[in-house]
Amino acid sequence: MSENLSLLVTMNRSWINASQISDVYEKCVEDFLEYAKRNGAAINGRYYYPCVNCVNEKRLDIELIREHVLCDGFLKNYTTWT
Ligand SMILES: [Zn+2]
Repeated sequence: MSENLSLLVTMNRSWINASQISDVYEKCVEDFLEYAKRNGAAINGRYYYPCVNCVNEKRLDIELIREHVLCDGFLKNYTTWT
């Protein structure tokens, strides 16, 4: 994990426990996706993503990542990014 992402996760830890249907949660998911697009290590436009069900073991494109983290939930203590 990059130092920047580590900082981001630490700073935003509170929102991870927010209701998944809240506006705050959606906004933070969008922020996360933006961050991923700028800083994530993509392969063919696909990134690892911290969905609670997929546990950061697969890669998807941004649109599918949005669905996963919105519907399944955000992995609370993920530590890997690339
Ligand atoms: Zn998932």
